Amino acid sequence: MSFLKGLRCRECGREFPKEALYVCEYCFGSLEAAYDYDGIKKVLTRDKILRGPKSLWRYRELLPIDGEPTAGFYSGFTPLVKADILAKELGVKELYIKDDSVCHPTWSFKDRVVAVALSRARELGFDTVACASTGNLANSVSANAAWAGFKRYIFIPANLERAKIIGSLVYAPNLVSVNGNYDDVNRLCSEIASKYRWGFVNINLRAYYAEGSKTLGFEIAEQLGWRAPDHIVAPAASGSLITKIWKSLQEFEKLGLLENKVKTKVYCAQPEGCAPIADSILSGSEAIKPVKPDTIAKSLAIGNPADGYYAKDVIRDTGGWAAKATNDEIREGIKLLARTEGIFTETAGGVTVACAKKLIEQGRIPRNESIVLAITGNGLKTQEAIQDSVGEAKLIDPKLDSFEEIVMGVQGSTT
Ligand SMILES: *Cc1c(COP(=O)(O)O)cnc(C)c1O
Ligand SMILES: [Zn+2]
Repeated sequence: MSFLKGLRCRECGREFPKEALYVCEYCFGSLEAAYDYDGIKKVLTRDKILRGPKSLWRYRELLPIDGEPTAGFYSGFTPLVKADILAKELGVKELYIKDDSVCHPTWSFKDRVVAVALSRARELGFDTVACASTGNLANSVSANAAWAGFKRYIFIPANLERAKIIGSLVYAPNLVSVNGNYDDVNRLCSEIASKYRWGFVNINLRAYYAEGSKTLGFEIAEQLGWRAPDHIVAPAASGSLITKIWKSLQEFEKLGLLENKVKTKVYCAQPEGCAPIADSILSGSEAIKPVKPDTIAKSLAIGNPADGYYAKDVIRDTGGWAAKATNDEIREGIKLLARTEGIFTETAGGVTVACAKKLIEQGRIPRNESIVLAITGNGLKTQEAIQDSVGEAKLIDPKLDSFEEIVMGVQGSTT
């Protein structure tokens, strides 16, 4: 049964058929999936969700496909870690890590959006899928399209981390490395998308793709015992994740699935070297000024964010705020999360931890309310960012003496 009614322009509200469309032909606004919520309300209960698959497809009624899912069967449903040690360190009472660093199969929250995009791509009759990526999306489309049997073209900026390049190549896609930054790659892909009949997951399938991010918010609420938290800190690149986390909580509320009223404040975390959304919040400006990215958080290096205005509105409307992290603060954030909670996140997660710390210290986030940090990617993919700031192993000879001298600091035991 399908509850997907069609697509609707986010600006003028005009409705469009549920095809591979993404811009309103009247006002150039972007299109969003529209659902039959009355129909959903009749069938979707907490009980039904609890009996559903242990993946993001447990929320299938709220995702934009017509039939049964055909991709990403094991994605989502990641742990919500009660982070007591980090909470103590940050001086807050109730802190959780939504840990998408362990999302199946490519260790980032992009596996959620790709699960939805590829299921929809199949329904729309595409045999080839493609994407413009800052790295994690490249990994996820490469892997999921291999499993689902699509031809695949992946476009990335040439300066990506080694692990993100190898973590795409291993799935044998057509990987295209572009001399330019993500915004250049994206512009090129829009041109290619208008010429080739490919399903670009984050261009002509974007209205479907983006909805996958809602499942991160659904899971947080379900895992908190059907409650919306007081505060959520999330990283932003295009700004889509932030808008969809907010939408997910509103949908759950509208469907009567929550114990509490949603009063969640949403906060945006961005790297100092690419912070167009955070800058607009911090400066109180209405404009989102495009920037030229220069940061170690390459997964967040989008200088001209497609959903920037919508993300800014969510942050303002919910009473949230924004913060920025320098490269050094990003490294410290990665190490802090690892040292306290045993979770190794990538640079984007370092940005989130560092920004949450700042927002708490500034009093923007109160210390006695519930806080969730969205940790969106895995640290093994961005090792070059911290390889020079984690120290070295102690090298010894395979002898007890050597161990005692070098590791235990016992002097002169050999002679
Ligand atoms: C893509 C990405 C984001 C940002 O997502 P947007 O929806 O584009 O804002 C955050 N974290 C990681 C690890 C990502 O790969
Ligand atoms: Zn419009």
